Amino acid sequence: MILAIILVILIGVPAVILATPALRRSLVTPHIFALFKRILPAMSDTERDALEAGTTWWDADLFSGRPDWNKFLKLPRPTLTAEEQSFLDHEVRHLCELVDDWEATQVWQGLPAPAWQYARDKGFLGMIIPKQYGGKAFSAYMHSQVVMQLSTRCSALAVQVMVPNSLGPAELLLHYGTEEQKNYYLPRLAAGTEIPCFALTSPYAGSDAAAIPDTGVVCMGRFEGRETLGLRITWNKRYITLGPIATLLGLAFRVVDPDGLLPAGSSTGITCALIPATHPGVVIGRRHWPLNAVFQNGPTSGDDVFIPMEWIIGGPGQIGKGWRMLMECLAAGRAISLPSASVGTAKLAVRGTSAYCAIRRQFKTSIGKFEGVQEALARMGGNLYMMDAARKLSALAVDLGEKPAVVSAIAKYHVTERGRAVVNDGMDILGGKGICMGPSNFLARAYQQIPIAITVEGANILTRCLIIFGQGAIRSHPYVLKEMRATANGDHRKALHDFDAAFFGHMRFVCANAARGLWYGLTGGATAPVPEQAAGDMAAYYRAIGRLSTAFALMTDVSMFVLGGELKRRERISARLGDALSQMYLISATLKRYEDDGRQQADAPYVHWSVRDALHKAQLALDGVLENFPNRPAAVLARLLVFPFGLPYAPPSDELGSAVANAMQTAGAGRERLLADGFLADDLRDPVACGELAFNLLPQVEAIEHRLKPAVRAGQLDAMPQSLPEMERWTTQAAAKGLVTPEERRALSDFARFTDLSVRVDDFPPDLNAAADADKRWRMAAQEAAVEA
Ligand SMILES: Cc1cc2nc3c(=O)[nH]c(=O)nc-3n(C[C@H](O)[C@H](O)[C@H](O)COP(=O)(O)OP(=O)(O)OC[C@H]3O[C@@H](n4cnc5c(N)ncnc54)[C@H](O)[C@@H]3O)c2cc1C
Repeated sequence: MILAIILVILIGVPAVILATPALRRSLVTPHIFALFKRILPAMSDTERDALEAGTTWWDADLFSGRPDWNKFLKLPRPTLTAEEQSFLDHEVRHLCELVDDWEATQVWQGLPAPAWQYARDKGFLGMIIPKQYGGKAFSAYMHSQVVMQLSTRCSALAVQVMVPNSLGPAELLLHYGTEEQKNYYLPRLAAGTEIPCFALTSPYAGSDAAAIPDTGVVCMGRFEGRETLGLRITWNKRYITLGPIATLLGLAFRVVDPDGLLPAGSSTGITCALIPATHPGVVIGRRHWPLNAVFQNGPTSGDDVFIPMEWIIGGPGQIGKGWRMLMECLAAGRAISLPSASVGTAKLAVRGTSAYCAIRRQFKTSIGKFEGVQEALARMGGNLYMMDAARKLSALAVDLGEKPAVVSAIAKYHVTERGRAVVNDGMDILGGKGICMGPSNFLARAYQQIPIAITVEGANILTRCLIIFGQGAIRSHPYVLKEMRATANGDHRKALHDFDAAFFGHMRFVCANAARGLWYGLTGGATAPVPEQAAGDMAAYYRAIGRLSTAFALMTDVSMFVLGGELKRRERISARLGDALSQMYLISATLKRYEDDGRQQADAPYVHWSVRDALHKAQLALDGVLENFPNRPAAVLARLLVFPFGLPYAPPSDELGSAVANAMQTAGAGRERLLADGFLADDLRDPVACGELAFNLLPQVEAIEHRLKPAVRAGQLDAMPQSLPEMERWTTQAAAKGLVTPEERRALSDFARFTDLSVRVDDFPPDLNAAADADKRWRMAAQEAAVEA
């Protein structure tokens, strides 16, 4: 009897209170509400703007613990219109042909003028501008295709084209410009008569861009002969892409109004304006030298430069709204520019390296057959397949009208990091061929310049530690933003009511995830949902994401409850949670790509390799959180729930790695899908083109070699040689004995010639400076002669 009374008091009474909204709201919720308000981390306005900017998308499903695969796989396949496809096949290809990366980076230290002029004339700078203003109105996917293809030829070319189409004057005008501003500037930007840049970064405000010290003081001043209200701006910016050649400077600065000249109640703070580069006082024109990349980039400054109020983007009403504008527009560009450029670089690396692996022999064996090389090659192929899938999915999000804040940060960080890994592996495989600079080296510049993508548009360490999970935990989580909004509500009654709904919804969510997490842990996720149309051997991956998503959702809540505001400073914990989320996004993208491409069996090794690699990484990230979690009892309990029998996912096997490496070295539709829409020159001066020609002849050459083995063993014929002069002698010998047809002889000679061009490295006179000068003089004379002719 006493026990029953105790149980009623301990369990029954709280249960009745919690289950009765009116009782709960008056007895329990106010206390939790007060506690919540106390422990919520302090947030500045700029932090709030950054957190609330953009939209959530598939990231919200992954945060929910129950991703809706049927909805996901119904998303359309990214496609191009006929007009876009034609532009890609003709204008983009031609622009690639106008640039030679070695010449641009070594001889001219700049893009060739005809190429840049062509890009301007053909509308490359107005891809995001609507047709009514003379722009191309391309989809985000097309924009991504263009940047990707240009990157397979010359990264500087890609950067100069992508920047005007990314976060900058055009994008800001489209969203916030006055009609007058749009009508004046957009046609000029679309036609390439205005070259835009956008200057935010200051020497002492880099990652912490909201801390810019550049100031615009509201004052009266003279403009075009009249006295008018305006701003006296002083700025000092650096790293501004296109800055040295810009005609239109987009500028972010902080407005102050010491004399109270703005109407009462006006806001001040970060503001964006458009200033013609020729405006008196604008200092522009010097140049940085970012890792030998030749896109234009430099500092700009101004001292007490007066501009009228009409130059503020959106007019004076947008004073103080600049940070929100930038944060709202950041996602679209970030989802496209650097992911696309990195995929292009990776396609260049994979095309050149895989062909080289097949044709380059050491120890009488193609180097691509050695297990050690296959290991690196498999990483390159698996990473590229997944990077390209993530690029396409992120561009699709933008085309569907999203401003995907978290997804774009994931794409930016993980695609650029994997791009760096691909290039590093390529360099290791190429050996000395990758080391010696010159026109025959197709990878050295990519290797040199890949850190640029890591640094810009949110440096990667910061993106991983602060943005992906930090923003996701608030934006993509089903309840946290609702709870935060409720605590910020000035109407106490409504605040309590909303908080009650959000908080107790949150509690039910945590309990459901804990129960499901344990069930999945015990059953290996066997009952996790699989979409109706998923192919048989892929079903396990959908289940694995179901299991990981539940584990991730649970660990997110455990981390937030245990660490509270402290989580913001525990960057390594939030970075690892972000890693787990990111790997799930990358796997989703990969599975969708496989479905979109029609479940091509030739692609299955790439899918299996990249998904298993990412599952392994995701579980290691969660394991890292548990290992390092400051509250040990919470960590032990969470581990029991999510990994009761240890870590479930093994990395890709050696056998799978060999399947990927072999697929990469097999000519055909599978390899072409992996490298799709990259530029391939039709020019024997291009080392990648030579490698590809030799690679395509390889099956025929190997068949001849195989057929002639008995003749070699019988001493009728020497073993097939590698070098060009010996091959000439050998084919003559084989032809004289009637062992090869004239057509086979030609194929063998061509193979030896293309292989020779492909393995060749450059040498220069001892004085490299003098050699460079002589080379430049020679090329200039050749150009002049060509112009005269
Ligand atoms: C080639 C190039 C082109 C650029 N183009 C433009 C442009 O057109 N317009 C423009 O306005 N800017 C531009 N930038 C600036 C670019 O966006 C900044 O370089 C970038 O935001 C990082 O700033 P920072 O270089 O000053 O590094 P810092 O802010 O000094 O950061 C140094 C390191 O600290 C890390 N870090 C900083 N804060 C944190 C944190 N809270 N947690 C964890 N890690 C942190 C960063 O990840 C980085 O690794 C460009 C830069 C380059 C190099």
